[in-house]
Amino acid sequence: MEKFKKLGLSQNTIESLRKKGYEEPTPIQEKIIPLLLKEEKDVIGQAQTGTGKTAAFGLPLIEKVSCKSKKVQALILTPTRELAIQVAEEINSLKGKKKLNIAPIYGGQSIELQLRKLRKGVQIVVGTPGRIMDHLNRGSLKINELSYFILDEADEMLNMGFLEDIEEILRHTNENKRVWLFSATMPDKILAIVKKYMRNYEFVKVSKEHLATDLTDQIYFEVRESDKFEALCRIIDVEPEFYGLVFCRTKVKVEEVANRLIDRGYDAEALHGDISQYQRERILNKFKKRRINILVATDVAARGLDISDLTHVINYSLPEDPNFYVHRIGRTGRAGKEGTAITFVTPSEYRRLVYIKKVSKSRIRKEKLPEVSQIINAKIERLKGDIMELMEEGQHRSYIRIAEKILDDKDPVEVLSALLKYSFNGEFEESSYSEIKEVSINKQGKTRLFIAKGKSSGMDRDKIIDFIQSKTGLKSLHIKDIRVFDNFSFLTVPFEEAEIILRYFKKHKRGKRPLVDKAKDKRKDS
Ligand code: ADP
Ligand code: MG
Repeated sequence: MEKFKKLGLSQNTIESLRKKGYEEPTPIQEKIIPLLLKEEKDVIGQAQTGTGKTAAFGLPLIEKVSCKSKKVQALILTPTRELAIQVAEEINSLKGKKKLNIAPIYGGQSIELQLRKLRKGVQIVVGTPGRIMDHLNRGSLKINELSYFILDEADEMLNMGFLEDIEEILRHTNENKRVWLFSATMPDKILAIVKKYMRNYEFVKVSKEHLATDLTDQIYFEVRESDKFEALCRIIDVEPEFYGLVFCRTKVKVEEVANRLIDRGYDAEALHGDISQYQRERILNKFKKRRINILVATDVAARGLDISDLTHVINYSLPEDPNFYVHRIGRTGRAGKEGTAITFVTPSEYRRLVYIKKVSKSRIRKEKLPEVSQIINAKIERLKGDIMELMEEGQHRSYIRIAEKILDDKDPVEVLSALLKYSFNGEFEESSYSEIKEVSINKQGKTRLFIAKGKSSGMDRDKIIDFIQSKTGLKSLHIKDIRVFDNFSFLTVPFEEAEIILRYFKKHKRGKRPLVDKAKDKRKDS
């Protein structure tokens, strides 16, 4: 508590922090809270998911917003309905005795209810862009006397295409307000907003080294695409208590993986953009209450989920964007608890892994998948544990007669073995598990690139190098084996450089094929 006291918070909020059981501020809270309390400035706060950004701006808001006026003094925009509710709840739970009205305003909730709340007078509104605009258009929400305009999870807001809505909402606000922006990552798109709407701002960043992800053990397994599902099952099976998120890149994959898990008897559900808001809440609730222990999700669907205590985050497929990797794994290893992030890497994904490792400065070590014998042992141990528990509780008593009847005068080991075979139908036999083949990944770490420019467009070796450097901004290129032909050229560079080059040209391609691409086998110049 001492550390919270030093930040300049009132006795009232200190008391509610105590009640909530927050013992000390997180790094971003420690940096942001005194700043927001002392200075009337625009502020950008960047720290990874799960680092307590809500309270970092929520606590100063509680101190600053006046309960004498019933006007809306702060508007917080969040990308999803759950987040609006979560943020409103967090602030509500921290306000202590102060008579503040905080209202979440989101699509899906009855508009009548919201109209009533707004009419009564609300000082802090937490909303999703769509519904906020509805109320602005109806005239039921006035935001022209704001003290604070807050964008929470700004990166997600932009990813979800809310830029225009945000700008529209901003047009309804007064000039002289503070803008606070919070985000886990800072892509260029955000900096563009910052330039346009924020002046004289302070940028506060908590870099990765101080973060909870240090508690996340990051490992990867090399598997073929077709063995990924089997590998996933092994990982879940070998854990005594698996409670995790499995990330796939597309909703088709999410559906496929979730359905296969369910077919095999796992307690899993799928979460993606096509799932109705109602279903989504039902699924999340089940997951939070641990009635299911596996949630298969897309990046978008998993945004902003505040679920702690995950034992595992699994990257079933690697994300395109290294920020997503950081974001995904930030969901485990939270609040002082250890977690494991597991990534499946196929030979063709290896280059991206190297790139992600480099950009996110992560330590990701390679491990071998659990062997079938380990899985069987883990299952036997679990069965033994369950049986012992049943016996301790005496729940087996009513079966003793039946046991005696079946046993007769036969050997108990023989009978039990037969019963196991009968009940578990091969689950303890190695032959019932599919084999996972070893993969060989080319780790020489180099990629051959094809460039659709050659002598006919005035290229030579130096010009090719200049061309790539000037486009990608790469200062030092480690090029080998440049070959310049009439209409095209080839060169070889290390994985990390290749990834940066390929990304640039994929993003800036004009025709069908990027100007620089991975060399295909038949195009090889040897
Ligand atoms: P972010 O917005 O950075 O992703 P949240 O604000 O959602 O993070 O906080 C993540 C979790 O950490 C929440 O469950 C929150 O209640 C908890 N939390 C926040 N601050 C503290 C703190 N100082 N001590 C303990 N838990 C905290
Ligand atoms: Mg947040």
